Amino acid sequence: MDALLVRGGRSRVEPVIPSPAAESEGSAYDIVFLDRDGTVNVRVPDGYVDDPERMLLLPGAGAAVARLNASGARVVVVTNQRGLATGRLTRAAYDAVTGRLADLLAAEGAHLDATYVCPHDHGECVCRKPADGLFRAALADAPWARAHRCAMVGDMPSDIAPARGLGMRTLLLGVDVPDLAAAVEVLLGDAPAGPGALARSS
Ligand SMILES: [Mg+2]
Ligand SMILES: [Zn+2]
Repeated sequence: MDALLVRGGRSRVEPVIPSPAAESEGSAYDIVFLDRDGTVNVRVPDGYVDDPERMLLLPGAGAAVARLNASGARVVVVTNQRGLATGRLTRAAYDAVTGRLADLLAAEGAHLDATYVCPHDHGECVCRKPADGLFRAALADAPWARAHRCAMVGDMPSDIAPARGLGMRTLLLGVDVPDLAAAVEVLLGDAPAGPGALARSS
């Protein structure tokens, strides 16, 4: 199974991530990549969000995604869903959870432009983070985007490493910033990032 691309109703015809066009003028970022579980929504302690009822946005996450949308950046989720390989997460359940996330975001005026999913187990692909295949697939589908004009926000070092390796700006939740809302503040220029940036700006 290839990495899955989820984008409502669109077939995989390049480029599937449309360039931001006019509304993006002045946007500092082409694409802001987001991890899903633990970044946008509450992580399920035992591993998988396998039911729409368990898909809960983290505080401030919906508004944060809406701010990114309004900035003109495309917002793309990159997520490992190993449960699809082990059988603990069915494709139907995954799709239902994805739909619920879209509904929760829409209720806050926010949307995802695309989601790239690794459905594989450990060691059987080049897309399970910390590998960079999900990012590369998205960039291939967005030939207008430049990696150095992209950013990645995630809650695990394995989210950050592949994005940094491609030259993206990265923000690790719990280390650089507390949460997605704070990450978006930093990315959109309202706040400096991390202790180093604080020192530099003083
Ligand atoms: Mg995560
Ligand atoms: Zn994979």
